[in-house]
Amino acid sequence: MNRSAAIARLRAGETWDVLIAGGGATGLYAALDAASRGYRTLLLERGDFASGTSSRSSKLIHGGVRYLRQGRPGFVRAALFERTLLLRNAPDLVHPRDFIVPVYSAWEKFFYGTGLKCYDLLARGHQPQSSRVLSRAETLAAVPTLQPGRLTGGVRYSDGQFDDAALAVAVACAAWTNGGALLNHAPVTALIKTGGRIRGAVLRDEETGETFEAGARIIVNATGVFADEFRRLDEPGAAPTLAPSQGAHVVLPREFLPGETALMIPKTSDGRVLFAIPWHDRVLLGTTDTEVKEIVREPVPFAEEVDFLLGHAARYLTRAPTRADVLSAFAGLRPLVKTGSSPARALARDHIIGVSPAGLVTITGGKWTTARKMAEDVINRAADLAGLPARPCRTAALPVPSPFFPTAGVPDDAFVAAAVRETMARTVEDVLARRSRVLFLDARAAAGAAPRVAAVIAQALARPAAWQLAQVESFRALAARHLP
Ligand SMILES: Cc1cc2nc3c(=O)[nH]c(=O)nc-3n(C[C@H](O)[C@H](O)[C@H](O)COP(=O)(O)OP(=O)(O)OC[C@H]3O[C@@H](n4cnc5c(N)ncnc54)[C@H](O)[C@@H]3O)c2cc1C
Repeated sequence: MNRSAAIARLRAGETWDVLIAGGGATGLYAALDAASRGYRTLLLERGDFASGTSSRSSKLIHGGVRYLRQGRPGFVRAALFERTLLLRNAPDLVHPRDFIVPVYSAWEKFFYGTGLKCYDLLARGHQPQSSRVLSRAETLAAVPTLQPGRLTGGVRYSDGQFDDAALAVAVACAAWTNGGALLNHAPVTALIKTGGRIRGAVLRDEETGETFEAGARIIVNATGVFADEFRRLDEPGAAPTLAPSQGAHVVLPREFLPGETALMIPKTSDGRVLFAIPWHDRVLLGTTDTEVKEIVREPVPFAEEVDFLLGHAARYLTRAPTRADVLSAFAGLRPLVKTGSSPARALARDHIIGVSPAGLVTITGGKWTTARKMAEDVINRAADLAGLPARPCRTAALPVPSPFFPTAGVPDDAFVAAAVRETMARTVEDVLARRSRVLFLDARAAAGAAPRVAAVIAQALARPAAWQLAQVESFRALAARHLP
């Protein structure tokens, strides 16, 4: 991907078949879908690709065991089908992971053993490994740091795991390779209308302040939790459709969960599931479900959320993690669609597509696992509305190669230069939060690496010394917010 080449296409006044606002999982898959059908496609992202919710997930490609408990087998089956496609199309980035549900009675063994057999069946023969009831000794061998106390055994099942930001960048690169133009650090600031119909968008290049007008036959609003804000560019008085909920994670040293098996606690005190998952040689512990009134770009875990996660982990692990053990903490906002006045966790995880009278197509809801299907649905609808020639979706069988392997540690200089050259990384945060994941894995180490990374980017992009200083300062402030 090359930012100057994308800007040159804008300057040339190209008219786009499909313009997508938002470069998270939904928008990026929509760009890949539209570009691979041969539609002239432009994607604009306000910050960096996946800088919103899509880099702050639990990193699971899954059907969602808990939706079975909610009696939604159709939803689980559809997501498990997408899991199968992702394991096949992006094998460098999505891999199977074993989970164990610890059990403390014969009834629990039966209940979770049966539930997870149903989960296997819904995968229709594509389960990476069949679920199995384990003895107490087998459970402790797989998770040696599980408190043995009242434990009677466990149920093992398998699911998919991935690196969310790495998959996002890979999907962006695949959209680019298929002929799409993508631009990060370029918000849509206004919509252009003639005769009451949307005909294009105004965008700003955040690096230069320059604005562009981009004509488009249809615009897709894939701005996640910001979808209502974006809809107001079209309909200033539009009523809110989203009820965002915050989910927090903390990252701990690997010694808290040394094996290769993740732990799934099926019922926390507030009725959620809790995961402790090996991730890039650390342990990812999450998540929470906290209703929030304000939608901010940089959500921060609340103190109660950190306490909740650490407190629950202490009930199951032999050594109780404390705040001093937390290497990084992060939060994301779920773009849940309102279905009435129910609490956040009961809101729809399904996706919803809406079309305004002026023709703005808005897609909300869903999850990372189902982003490909969401994109298929929204591009079908957009193509139909725009009168584009009908062409079948190709993404179910389209490989998504990894342009590079995400690094967990502090990246070396060669990595930083390649991230800038090949994946449109433009800032210290782009490199340390999403091309490498070190901000999420060890916020102190990330802060320490900032000056060196700023120097490499400055050299690659011919930035002045003042830019480097400002980058280091703002990244260090961000890294501090990742430490509870
Ligand atoms: C805590 C948590 C854990 C989760 N875990 C999982 C999981 O394990 N597995 C799973 O499948 N799903 C998971 N999800 C759900 C999944 O992460 C989200 O459904 C998905 O990332 C949403 O992607 P999105 O593209 O819709 O939104 P986002 O990723 O938020 O992308 C929207 C983008 O729009 C951009 N934008 C906003 N306004 C403008 C504008 N004016 N112009 C241009 N761009 C704009 C934003 O900068 C943002 O990058 C989780 C969610 C949360 C919160």
